[in-house]
Amino acid sequence: MKPSPGHIPLLGWSRKQWEDWLTDRDCSPVHAVSLVREIHRHGELSLERMDSIPQHVRAALREQTECALPSVVESNCARDGTRKWLLRLGCGDVIETVLIPAAGRATLCLSSQAGCVLNCTFCRTARSGFGRNLTVHEIVSQLWLVRHRLQPEMPVTHVVFMGMGEPLANLDAVADAAHLFRDPHAYSMGCRQVTVSTAGLVPGIDRLRQVADVSLAVSLHAPDDVLRTQLMPINARYPIDDLLAACRRYADGGSRKRKIIIEYVLLDDVNDSPERARALAGRLRDLPCKVNLIPFNAFPESGYAASPEPVRNRFREILCEEGIVAITRRPRGDDIAAACGQLAGKIRKPRAGMPWADHSVLTHGPLPTASGVAG
Ligand code: SF4
Repeated sequence: MKPSPGHIPLLGWSRKQWEDWLTDRDCSPVHAVSLVREIHRHGELSLERMDSIPQHVRAALREQTECALPSVVESNCARDGTRKWLLRLGCGDVIETVLIPAAGRATLCLSSQAGCVLNCTFCRTARSGFGRNLTVHEIVSQLWLVRHRLQPEMPVTHVVFMGMGEPLANLDAVADAAHLFRDPHAYSMGCRQVTVSTAGLVPGIDRLRQVADVSLAVSLHAPDDVLRTQLMPINARYPIDDLLAACRRYADGGSRKRKIIIEYVLLDDVNDSPERARALAGRLRDLPCKVNLIPFNAFPESGYAASPEPVRNRFREILCEEGIVAITRRPRGDDIAAACGQLAGKIRKPRAGMPWADHSVLTHGPLPTASGVAG
């Protein structure tokens, strides 16, 4: 969507958009590089201090741009160094952003929507309801704030769209943000440093392959449709066969072979039996992938418990015996509710009905319901 004149979001535009804007004003498009560097690489938002930009360009920018940053409502640091920020957006919705430090890297977990409509039964975000899609500016703001203001001493090396929301339901904004993350003049991240994680919107996976060069993670969580639909109602619309076929297309597409990351949260006595481990291995045998096993992070009234460690270990061993690369992800930030599936935020006005801004990811039929049966 094009912003109205005078309201160009400073953090939300790509180098190409700035080039076009400059050309329209009879200015040299070459200044787009300097502008992107000033904003994203150097963290400079004051036009007065952008010395690499000529005065007449700065004057035009002053008239036409705005830069409302989210405000920090709360900041928490976990025992393991994981940091979580609650950020209030201009409209009042509160989202969460999590920075996970590890040896030689720091991963920022970004939100793409305020809330989520997909109603995965093990996920705390789903309990908040759905507010709206975030704009490109709001998505990029999360990285910009952490990189340049909140934690500059720990440069973010990777971003993952695993915070609040389903990124492929907001694909245009997510793809535009990903282009900025990958732009060598902005954040200069490689395709393995930007990961989009989906609950399984099949048309969105196919479109993502065409519009962005990023890594793909898929939340699978069950090897059979009956159980997966119970856990993730979206499975009623896009069952496992269709989802894995889309993963194969994604892995084959582009200039290089890509490995898909399969996420599997281990829920006690629900999806963690040896039979299900073997069934999962069977499903994944011909897919270039790596399985991340995730110990469940409980939250009040979730109704689920984490699988005991010996059960988790046995599940992983079976996958490895069957030739599947599998690791168990170490829980991070669970003491501040910053771990996977624990993000809550606060939606000012939850919306009912058809909340999708990007309707192209859903091709037909009604939305799945929380009961697990597509209506
Ligand atoms: S797990 Fe992801 S897709 Fe499912 S409800 Fe939570 S945020 Fe939405």
